[in-house]
Amino acid sequence: MCSPRIMNFVNKELSRRNLFKMAIVGSAAAAAAASLPRASAQATMNQIDVSNVVDLSHRLHSGFPMWPGTASPEKETVVTVKDNGFYGNIWKIWEHTATHLDAPAHFIEGGTTADNIPIENFIAPIAVIDIEKKVEDNADATLDIEDIAAWESTNGLLPDRAVVMMYSGWEKRVNDADAFINTDSDEVMHFPGFNPEAAEFLVKERNITGIAVDTLSLDPGNSTTFGTHIAVLGAEKWGLENVANLKSIPEAGATLIVGVLKNKDASGGPVRLMAVWG
Ligand SMILES: [Zn+2]
Repeated sequence: MCSPRIMNFVNKELSRRNLFKMAIVGSAAAAAAASLPRASAQATMNQIDVSNVVDLSHRLHSGFPMWPGTASPEKETVVTVKDNGFYGNIWKIWEHTATHLDAPAHFIEGGTTADNIPIENFIAPIAVIDIEKKVEDNADATLDIEDIAAWESTNGLLPDRAVVMMYSGWEKRVNDADAFINTDSDEVMHFPGFNPEAAEFLVKERNITGIAVDTLSLDPGNSTTFGTHIAVLGAEKWGLENVANLKSIPEAGATLIVGVLKNKDASGGPVRLMAVWG
């Protein structure tokens, strides 16, 4: 792998990038850029207050709790800086691993695949609905219509195009796969999710972009019918599972940015989620 030709290319590429960096900080280049329409968008981007940004993704690794029967991610290191001059891995990853997106196609024949979801649907106002208290003595607790009503009585109607994010406190178990999956002696899983009636309410009575959970599934672990998946994905909305850090963001007023790979025909995929607010 480490042929002199490749190393030559790497070195050339590095010095080319340094030259490029120097060029863009040069005043002549800046003045030229300012005359382009893109420059005004850049100026706006620089004004975003990044002090309020929270990473809502868990780290993806081979020990992450997996849905029973699905394969854990595999990483093979194929080159290292020491031996080859550059570092890289080959990954083999089930699309529904760690913090990830469920595209409509995951449950719906002919539904939209991840690569075809319009990019604007990956930016949405956040509503965090906290059901942790209900979960303390009931692992099968669900996010119900009453919980949505309670959020709205405090914060007003769900914003247009909202992503409704369930916080159950379940992520405290994420480093213990058995506790996170929580399977009983009859092979039934027990963890919180959206009540399918609440999911139906959201897609019919409110204008949402998607829903999210801090557990393995949009549906509660003991579901056999996956009514929430079908209601949400069937309405061409998306879902996010195994979301992190929802306790660290405001229950209203933040914006979610979803970064997912544009893999052709994907049913979903691991995501980097960012919550930002001013
Ligand atoms: Zn999934």
